[in-house]
Amino acid sequence: MGSTKYVFVTGGVTSSLGKGIISASLGRLLQARGYRVTIQKLDPYINVDPGTLNPYEHGECYVTDDGAETDLDLGHYERFLDIQTSQANNVTTGRIYQSVINKERRGDYLGKTVQVIPHITDEIKRRITLLGRKNEYDFIITEIGGTVGDIESLPYIEAVRQLRWDLGDENTAFVHLTLVPYLAASGELKTKPTQHSVKVLLENGIQPDVLVLRAEHELDKALRKKVALFCNVEFDAVIQSIDVSTIYEVPLLMREEGLDEIVLKKLKIEFNASPNLKEWSQFVEKLKSSSQEVRIALVGKYVELADSYKSIIESLIHAGAKNEVKVKVTSVHSERVNVGNIDEKLTGYHGILVAPGFGDRGIDGKILSAKFARENKIPFLGICLGLQSAVIEFARNVLGYSDAHSTEMTNITKHPVIDLMEEQKGVTEKGGTMRLGGYACSLKPDSKVQEAYKVGMVRERHRHRYEFNNDFLDEFEKGGMISTGINPESGLVEIMEQTNHPWFVGTQFHPEYRSTVLNPHPLFVAFIKAAKRYSE
Ligand code: GLN
Repeated sequence: MGSTKYVFVTGGVTSSLGKGIISASLGRLLQARGYRVTIQKLDPYINVDPGTLNPYEHGECYVTDDGAETDLDLGHYERFLDIQTSQANNVTTGRIYQSVINKERRGDYLGKTVQVIPHITDEIKRRITLLGRKNEYDFIITEIGGTVGDIESLPYIEAVRQLRWDLGDENTAFVHLTLVPYLAASGELKTKPTQHSVKVLLENGIQPDVLVLRAEHELDKALRKKVALFCNVEFDAVIQSIDVSTIYEVPLLMREEGLDEIVLKKLKIEFNASPNLKEWSQFVEKLKSSSQEVRIALVGKYVELADSYKSIIESLIHAGAKNEVKVKVTSVHSERVNVGNIDEKLTGYHGILVAPGFGDRGIDGKILSAKFARENKIPFLGICLGLQSAVIEFARNVLGYSDAHSTEMTNITKHPVIDLMEEQKGVTEKGGTMRLGGYACSLKPDSKVQEAYKVGMVRERHRHRYEFNNDFLDEFEKGGMISTGINPESGLVEIMEQTNHPWFVGTQFHPEYRSTVLNPHPLFVAFIKAAKRYSE
């Protein structure tokens, strides 16, 4: 294939229509035809990255191998395409302005007035085409966050309008996702919001090539024809995206609608064969046909918003399909768990997962949950603060250090079993300063984790400032909680497990950032396997 092709995905009418899933599905279909694809997300907010955002704002903060704190859509891209993304795959308005302002301070604009157009738009264009520079990809799909018509997405829309001009019509395609609401009272599907949102795009100089209409009900030919006519889009390029029970069905649905073919035709790329979706279909088949249920309690403090633990929930789904069970995840609010109700809160589950987090709100509930899993021999997976909670619990109740704690929560303890990492001691700025991204971890032979991974060395992603305090390692190991994963350079403990338990594992890293449909994460697979065994 000649030059890199750029596909821009915009959204209209409302947010949360699933642009990320449509982008990832298109990416998957093109990849299944043998093309090299990556996906990028442009976020119109002024935060430099979502690392400083509370999960209640936009859900989980996803972390890439190169240590970027990014939007959770990058998680979908990696899970659907089984690729690694990087900092270049997520651009925010904050980052754009930061680099333009830095350039201005350096004097790079040679006395010119610095303006949104052309300076901000040029920087946006530079960031979009950056991924195409090394000729690593046949397709770059760029998802533009927000909804067209928003004031803050205007510079992005203008930048991609210019890119069509710069790169040429045959190298760019515009996919616009809208909503066709159903009015129950009159029993009608309404196209007016779609017409309006396309009008907004046209006002900004963009003619969409493909319209993906999100709807609860099947759209008939007449409706599609109407949309095609009023929006200047070819009839075949108006397709529907009907609600489905799992996001993993969307690529199959988009295949039926021919989204990949429409885009290839628009870009004048010849094709004959169909995409190879065999493995993908098998996965969806397993997901839907498994009936044996495994119940997992997910203990965390951001449970009100399902997106806060997106990657964990998806990793559990992947591991469920691999084990041919249906994983039913129940959120348990860590702030509402106490000594009086722990039995009632956690009885009936086949596995307990204590989630990552920051600060002391809800920490007691996490510590109690780890204790419950240890004492009742329920399979346990603790991630980051989840591992730290299990360590504190073990120190208090097995080693007998009743004041043991993490120095994130208190300074008045003689037993700081979790402590600030040495390299973090001088850090005062919050953004981008944690221990972030991929680090090596060597596994202890004959451990639970080594059995799961089946290799000696792995690489996993991190996001933390605190760490197991190695001063206490001997006592822990004598007591039955051993370190089974260590960073070979720094000696930091990355994994701990309990020897006197069928499956009790805590990781300082986040395995959930590396689970994909085609490669479910070994630790999640092993955790669900243990939970399945427990349920039997
Ligand atoms: N708050 C803990 C730390 O900074 C755990 C972080 C996390 O769970 N991601 O070490």
